Amino acid sequence: MMISSLLQTLNIRETHEPHYYSSVYKFFKSLEGQGILLKEEDTFYIQKLLVPERIITFQVPWEDDQGHLHVNTGYRVQHNGALGLYKGGLRFHPSVNLDIIKALAFEQTFKNALTGYPMGGAKGGSDFNPKGRSKREVRRFSYAFIEALAPYIGEHVDIPAGDLGIDGEILGYMNAKYQNLKQESLYPLTGKPVLLNGSFIRKEATGFGLIYFIDAFYQEVLNDSIQGKTILISGAGNVGIHAALKASSLGGIVVGISDSSGYVYDPQGLNISEIIDHKITNNQPLEIYHNQNIVFKDNMFWHHPCEIALPCAKEDDVGLEDIKLLHQNGVKVVAEGANIAVKSEAIQYMKENKIMYGPGKAANAGGVFVSALEIEQNRTFHQWHPAVVDDKLKTLMKNLFHDMYNQANQQYEKLMGAANQLAYIRILQAMKLRGLY
Ligand code: NDP
Repeated sequence: MMISSLLQTLNIRETHEPHYYSSVYKFFKSLEGQGILLKEEDTFYIQKLLVPERIITFQVPWEDDQGHLHVNTGYRVQHNGALGLYKGGLRFHPSVNLDIIKALAFEQTFKNALTGYPMGGAKGGSDFNPKGRSKREVRRFSYAFIEALAPYIGEHVDIPAGDLGIDGEILGYMNAKYQNLKQESLYPLTGKPVLLNGSFIRKEATGFGLIYFIDAFYQEVLNDSIQGKTILISGAGNVGIHAALKASSLGGIVVGISDSSGYVYDPQGLNISEIIDHKITNNQPLEIYHNQNIVFKDNMFWHHPCEIALPCAKEDDVGLEDIKLLHQNGVKVVAEGANIAVKSEAIQYMKENKIMYGPGKAANAGGVFVSALEIEQNRTFHQWHPAVVDDKLKTLMKNLFHDMYNQANQQYEKLMGAANQLAYIRILQAMKLRGLY
């Protein structure tokens, strides 16, 4: 059976939903590369996997500080729950639409399957832009959003977390509003502030996990470590900043980091605590970083030499030309802190040129791992010490790398195919065991 004809049968078209089409197509092509052919007898299950189990679209009416009324659109795509409750982030960003949310929910289904925890995949969000809005406006919007979504989520159904534009503070507001609506002390979200029954290290988890994953590669494949390696990180948000912090604490040399205003680059290595002060404590864009000698505003971030490149900002960040330049400049490892950050032509180039590529569904799984640990803590009425959570995260990321590497027959350039294969087999088996549902 051909994936293109299946997509046509289900009316999944590149012209209608380019992101979803591309994610599905790339996924099944990579399985083909692993020698996994779609079997006729699996048609029902594959079709079920391609049509999201539930798509919820809703309006979010809210009032700004001047008393003007607005309406935004909210989404939750519960893609596949064969392995357990739906799990996946919520994003507030003007680029949010149903196509992108479906694509991210599809990716999340396989990422969650890889973790080994009983979680299906989902994603959601709204086209609301929190940037430039007051704290009160963001809080008002968050309350309105969760009120509209509340009937469809819950701690035994679907537990969203944060993603772009949604931090712990917003999750705290949404969690409180949900508890207020239900009049019960429930935990419908992860990524909550620690004082509101969140987990230590959840905020840091995706960035820390990314570095643990790469370090596992250096240790297991090259008998080396991240120490002394030069690193470029795009995105100075939650993922990028914590990746920079962990990398430098392990002796890595972060030479460049970017945000939407520009980037800072110093071949001698950046002062990460100063960057954290600037970006997180003072909430300032990199373009006005105090040392203007190292600030750049061109589009040449990936043109700078490094051994490790970590796209941690957004989708489609690294294209074919970028990867060719990175390769010329000696890159050995590219791993996705952000989902779908590397374009397919660049992934193919890395495979052909034996550059280690860590696909997002494994490399940035640290966030969902610690979300699973947060659920475990909430259900057992415990809160673990940060060092305990960090240690568990490190072990989970190391084991994940090890499983994928073995699945790839110890050919690190085949990690993506191996990750997809591992996740696909688990989900397909679970779907078959469930029969019709
Ligand atoms: P944040 O909103 O905290 O940070 C995003 C960062 O990317 C910001 O620094 C932003 O700049 C920067 N950015 C945006 N556009 C550009 C651009 N064109 N060029 C350079 N930098 C840019 O988001 P997160 O760090 O939470 O998430 C980043 C990515 O990681 C997303 O794709 C998300 O889906 C993915 N992810 C996140 C997880 C998590 O736990 N948070 C888990 C798994 C994946 P500025 O600071 O100027 O706004």
